[in-house]
Amino acid sequence: MCGVFSIRSKKLNVAQATYFGLYALQHRGQESAGIAVSDGKRLKNVKNVGLVSQVFNKEILEDLNGFIAIGHARYSTTGSSNLANAQPYVASFHGEDVAIAHNGNLLNTDVLRQECASKGFKFVGTSDTEVIAALIEQSKKETLEEAIIDMMHTVVGAYSLIFLYRDKMIAVRDPHGIRPLVVGTVEDGFVMASEDCAFSVVGGKMLREVMPGEIFIVDEKGTHSQMLLTETERRGFCSFEYIYFARPDSVFNNKSLYSIRVKMGRNLYRENPVEADAVISVPDSGTPAAIGYSRESGIPFAEGLIKNRYIGRTFIQPDQLLREVGVKLKLNPIVDAINGKKIIIVDDSIVRGTTSKKIVKLLRDTGVKEVHFRVSSPRVMNPCFYGIDTASKKELIAANMSLDEIREELDVDSIAYLSYEGLINAIHLPKEQLCLACFDGNYPVSVSDQLKRSKHLFDDNGPRSSVG
Ligand code: AMP
Ligand code: SF4
Repeated sequence: MCGVFSIRSKKLNVAQATYFGLYALQHRGQESAGIAVSDGKRLKNVKNVGLVSQVFNKEILEDLNGFIAIGHARYSTTGSSNLANAQPYVASFHGEDVAIAHNGNLLNTDVLRQECASKGFKFVGTSDTEVIAALIEQSKKETLEEAIIDMMHTVVGAYSLIFLYRDKMIAVRDPHGIRPLVVGTVEDGFVMASEDCAFSVVGGKMLREVMPGEIFIVDEKGTHSQMLLTETERRGFCSFEYIYFARPDSVFNNKSLYSIRVKMGRNLYRENPVEADAVISVPDSGTPAAIGYSRESGIPFAEGLIKNRYIGRTFIQPDQLLREVGVKLKLNPIVDAINGKKIIIVDDSIVRGTTSKKIVKLLRDTGVKEVHFRVSSPRVMNPCFYGIDTASKKELIAANMSLDEIREELDVDSIAYLSYEGLINAIHLPKEQLCLACFDGNYPVSVSDQLKRSKHLFDDNGPRSSVG
């Protein structure tokens, strides 16, 4: 998962607007950030490891002048976390710069990487985006649009991409629409982003989403769009965007994620009621569902844990040790609110179980009488191959333990997850439009046995059971 943003406007300072846009998308990736700006002829690109606010300052932004910009906040999935993999990536098309910002993960890069390298492309990093860049650079097509169309017929997987070339910005989305990408308007131009929560900071208004399989171009003449790849009947919008990744104030399919998460919490109570003194959440991601659980049950919501505002999402730090230390730095209990009480704690998901285990210990150490864990998504049974670091199957707690074993492992008095049906009911979209593979193992874009093996989904005895 990454955040992408772009803007074309002659009235606004586009570098600054992109900086603000990336700030609003920081939750989608915290490892590196970059902005490329063009004045229609020359392109400047600045990127580095770190948060948006660490990479950019006033001087750097002042030097980025032009009327069209793209930006990227990276969360590493494929490719290690280093500067060579930071984006935007600048490729060359017929001798001219083209900047690329990518959110997603491709499935056939090994073969393509070899093919492009054998034709002379010098890879410097390990990211999928470089493979896209190589295909664009090696294209014999006359226009960039044609080269992009060819690329879309060649790559397989999840991609929401924005290109910056001369005076144009070009957005494309894979035919299953796995990752989000939306278009908005500003006073005299257009803006695009992974989520519409990035529009309001630049005075933008939501227009529509870029459709799965669509190429959407913004240039001097306005906007042009074409449906390139037949929209597959089977779409695959990531249900985890609804559960956790996207910001609660973003809107997908005309509904705010906040209200959908509250509904998840309501459904969770209906399916798994329990008596207690208070409902608390794992802030911030579990809060809307905890509020829903509280509203549906009538059990008061309390702030039992306070989050240190200056710590990012711990999961995003790729190293396990950092992740473990991170949990302790991140949350502090409010003793008065929970001491001696029966508590229901709601989180949006359990992946490895590391976070939950530490939180429960924290609650027990604070003197909580009973801990009832409620999770506002189903059990995560399968890894993701489309751009989310949900670990390999052998690390997923629900794929390796029964519900009773998880209860014991986390040391809770009871545990329950939202059902698969309860999740779909809250999202309010037909199942065929969603990717729910983490829960049901039904991958909308087929994954090779080799890739499955790399995440322990397929061992030497054949596929492992994946439906939970
Ligand atoms: P874990 O300790 O692995 O069980 O992590 C689960 C916690 O991380 C939950 O509190 C979620 O809010 C959050 N989370 C779940 N999935 C992800 C993900 N793929 N990336 C970042 N954070 C996640
Ligand atoms: Fe989202 Fe899970 Fe599908 Fe990955 S496998 S795209 S995280 S629903």
